[in-house]
Amino acid sequence: MSEENNSNNDGLLIVSEDACKSVIDRASAFTAVENVFASMSRGDAYNFPVIREAIGYADALYGFKSGFDRAGKSLGLKSGGYWPGNEAKGLTNHQSTIFLFNPDNGKLRALVGGNYLTAVRTAAASAVSIAHLARKDSKVIGMIGAGHQSTFQLRAALEQRDFDKVVAWNNNKDRLKNLQAVAEEAGVAFESVEREELCKQADVIITITSAFEPLLMKEWIKPGTHIACMGTDTVGKQEVDAELLASATVFTDEIAQSISLGEAQHAIKSGAIKESDITTLGAAINGDHPGRSSDDEITLFDGTGVGLQDLAVASAAARLALEKGEAQQISL
Ligand code: NAD
Repeated sequence: MSEENNSNNDGLLIVSEDACKSVIDRASAFTAVENVFASMSRGDAYNFPVIREAIGYADALYGFKSGFDRAGKSLGLKSGGYWPGNEAKGLTNHQSTIFLFNPDNGKLRALVGGNYLTAVRTAAASAVSIAHLARKDSKVIGMIGAGHQSTFQLRAALEQRDFDKVVAWNNNKDRLKNLQAVAEEAGVAFESVEREELCKQADVIITITSAFEPLLMKEWIKPGTHIACMGTDTVGKQEVDAELLASATVFTDEIAQSISLGEAQHAIKSGAIKESDITTLGAAINGDHPGRSSDDEITLFDGTGVGLQDLAVASAAARLALEKGEAQQISL
């Protein structure tokens, strides 16, 4: 939120899930995430240590992601987690709320629904990686995974290049109809394929599963492919062969997360790559790294998901909801 808005109104803003959907579209999420990745790489923004605990009740995982972006003036946290029994109650399993604080005085400034924003900020991250790293002539996009996040990832990705086909794989084929519907809506062809065939056809691949073993092998990936690995956000999860990272130029949102709980954790552990082999996507955005250097290079984005992404989209949502009269205001 800008300083102007902070000084014009010092109350607490409540920004509902519906208000977030109304004011944050894919373009504004893209801009917020691109800017905060750039801020992180310049050292203007940093994430605080993540807390995530199994609370021993309702099988829930609960925690906090927090940080401060000096450039964007976003200070706060996302609180939430995963309640596996929610779906049976008609609720989303992932539940989160974002708390924004005024960095000038520490007062709670906004409570923002975090469920829709988590989906769009995650989709924006892979879209930003495609915008900066995929070959300009990319035509076929491959999707590995067809769960809740996948349609968000695909919609945002389709806007980054002149794609004419989606190829997709999921361990449960029934779910692929959701991705097929997105492809049809965008007017591009759709084909359900096996994983090796997907790698033969795709110029860009997004992985967005909860897998704990590699789904894509190094020898399947053709030169020039860009891969956005988005599902691995926890110790033990894995979506691609660790050896693939050794043959790719690896980018990430945050190096500390990439090597500890992101896709790179396995390649680091096996010694296939070193921490110094990983570059922040922000460096490519800022021009401090050239990004893709040839049409044959394999680029890989390890998108681990950071609290600053949440704060960036929530700050934009709070500012726009206030401007458009879609935020409720109360005094604490
Ligand atoms: P979801 O539960 O709706 O979907 C999970 C998907 O993974 C489904 O397509 C399912 O069929 C597939 N899957 C599950 N186990 C598998 C296995 N062993 N092998 C292959 N496929 C398997 O979840 P979602 O909300 O779509 O999230 C997908 C993943 O992305 C999760 O791991 C989640 O934690 C992660 N995520 C990451 C970020 C980030 O910022 N990087 C943000 C949100 C979610």
